[in-house]
Amino acid sequence: MKQPAYISPSSPNQALADKYPPHGLVKSTVAFPKTLSPQEAPVQEVFSSIQGEGLYAGCRQVFVRFAHCHLHCAYCDTPMTTPSGQCAVEWQAGSHQWASVENPLKQEALVDIIGQLLTTQGKHHSVSFTGGEPLLYAQFLTGVLPQIQALGVKTYLETSGTQPQLLEALLPFLDVVAMDVKLPSATKQAPRWDEHRAFYALLQVNPIFTGEVFIKCVFNHATTLDELSQLKTIVTNPDTVIYLQPETPLVKEASTLTIQAHHLLQLQAGVAGWFNDVRVLPQTHKFLQVS
Ligand code: SF4
Repeated sequence: MKQPAYISPSSPNQALADKYPPHGLVKSTVAFPKTLSPQEAPVQEVFSSIQGEGLYAGCRQVFVRFAHCHLHCAYCDTPMTTPSGQCAVEWQAGSHQWASVENPLKQEALVDIIGQLLTTQGKHHSVSFTGGEPLLYAQFLTGVLPQIQALGVKTYLETSGTQPQLLEALLPFLDVVAMDVKLPSATKQAPRWDEHRAFYALLQVNPIFTGEVFIKCVFNHATTLDELSQLKTIVTNPDTVIYLQPETPLVKEASTLTIQAHHLLQLQAGVAGWFNDVRVLPQTHKFLQVS
């Protein structure tokens, strides 16, 4: 899909935003969550494609990309709205032909779109709710997720892992949680260790959640093992799979990662001293050139 031109928003931390331009964040042309009813949400895109990250890399999914995020990661490559503010739906996977649907979407409209993609685009492992930050629409999702499970596919949440207070209501309806741990060396923002701790703890102690969780850490040349040692204070189950994801260059022409092999190997070896399954995986969908 051709990416829209980015327009920087005003930022609560303008000094950092000026130093590290917020590549993915665009000035919104759709309503922010607070102005919406719980039965509606601004959705940026819905499409069928291949998961490129984490535990289910390579699996076919329907992706629901919500607009907006409360964070401001320097490496963010996700446009937060379409230029028109409408939801773009790719009815034929990989066609790059996108239909426009009026935002905000009602719950029943989103379930209907997902259902049609599941019916027409072959077998899918799951439906990925991504963003932006899907948990900004937690109430909306409490109505959507059970309907998706009823369609016979798993629900998969991609989240920054920073809003435990919004996660709780969704726990009965989540099959897979891909939880980020945000490293300041990559985000160029303040750490969020306490929020990550509370978020992960909720997934471990609440018996209502019976799904899987894995951790994703985007890292770069500035990331140190000392910084990654925070994982030990967040991820209390050593069997939780940890993905170290090299930061993808934002410059379109850059076809190779900027992280030295010895650096990523040292980091993996170090983290593997604390956890039983530590994997290094770049964003494979970028190499496949799929959405
Ligand atoms: S949490 Fe994700 S969507 Fe939000 S700014 Fe960071 S990278 Fe972008």
